[in-house]
Amino acid sequence: MCYAIPGKIIELNDRTATVDYYGEQKKAYTDLLEVQIGDYVYAQGGFLIQKVPPKEAHDILSDWEELFFKLQEKDKKLSAHPKNLYERANAIRQQNQGNSCCVHGILEFSNYCRQNCLYCGIRRDNKELTRYRLEIPQILESVKYAYDLGFKALVLQSGEDPYYDDDKLETIVKTIREKYPVLLFVSIGERSLSAYRRLYDAGARGVLMRFETCNPDAYKKVKPDSDLQNRLQLIRDLRKMGYLIVTGFLVGLPGEDKKDILENIKLTASLDAEMFSFGPFIPHPQTPLAETPMPKLTKLLRVIAEARLMNPESRILVTTALETLDQDAARQGLLAGANSLMINVTPPKYRKLYDIYPQRFGTDLDTQEHIDRVIGLLKSLGRAPTDLSV
Ligand code: SF4
Repeated sequence: MCYAIPGKIIELNDRTATVDYYGEQKKAYTDLLEVQIGDYVYAQGGFLIQKVPPKEAHDILSDWEELFFKLQEKDKKLSAHPKNLYERANAIRQQNQGNSCCVHGILEFSNYCRQNCLYCGIRRDNKELTRYRLEIPQILESVKYAYDLGFKALVLQSGEDPYYDDDKLETIVKTIREKYPVLLFVSIGERSLSAYRRLYDAGARGVLMRFETCNPDAYKKVKPDSDLQNRLQLIRDLRKMGYLIVTGFLVGLPGEDKKDILENIKLTASLDAEMFSFGPFIPHPQTPLAETPMPKLTKLLRVIAEARLMNPESRILVTTALETLDQDAARQGLLAGANSLMINVTPPKYRKLYDIYPQRFGTDLDTQEHIDRVIGLLKSLGRAPTDLSV
């Protein structure tokens, strides 16, 4: 767990550095950056990503010092004396993960997909959707925009789009890593292990790939082009390769029962997920599941709380889909045990076209306005945003 404020390296051991933040120490891998003891650095997701000149680091640290401890105090106060399930989960989050909250940027660079998942608005058979692809210069421009706004961790997301072959993807990741010190996640679907190996070597360190349901029958019905066991094996292999894994499931798919949800939480944990991602199923009018009802916000909050109680050390995401259910969902999710958020940094004219479900939260928001809202929310809850410098 890392803060988007510089820390000082106080110990180096093999490929691991111990980084000090106002007396609090965290470990991070050194394989993306050459460092020495005494260097000031930014770290993300357990990786050092950028050195910071000492004078700049001292200035930021002295600006932050008062706020840093004030936020911690506020978070402790808000999570003290838990009475109900959500408050207990929030207290467990506070005791095990402190007040840091990841805020990743997400860039959706293509809405083409060769798969045909029944719940998804960008499925292959949705002929009503206008499709788009960003070319490499547009992707780089969008990454620059996000980097200049302060993002230090970015997710590159698309449907499963073969237009981006292994060479193209490798070029994208390599060029971004050469130009911008950000922690890169990819969310590009099922590709060969050798493709993912090349992306890892080019500098990607995270993969977002949800399994959606652990129930094999339900999986077969809603993801007809994919095999559950193969997908799970791929996630396991990618973890072994060294990737940080963001994974999880959809809540409210047809045929789901209570047992499935508990099994889904357990499976997410068993995949050694860096971050848990649970989204509500939201029916899309241009899909075969258009008439299936969506779950209520309270059901999702319960899942977050249960996942937190079962996995005190995890990072749990407030997904954009959850935020779509209710204006206040992000705050409620964070108070039920979640500690991560994502902000859409896709160029505004394409956001609506990444139409995986209708009325996605944030598609109409200016990115800076969205950041300001998130930071305001986090500060009101005593949380420190860890991937955005503020
Ligand atoms: S859920 Fe993913 S793989 Fe399935 S159709 Fe949508 S974008 Fe494609």
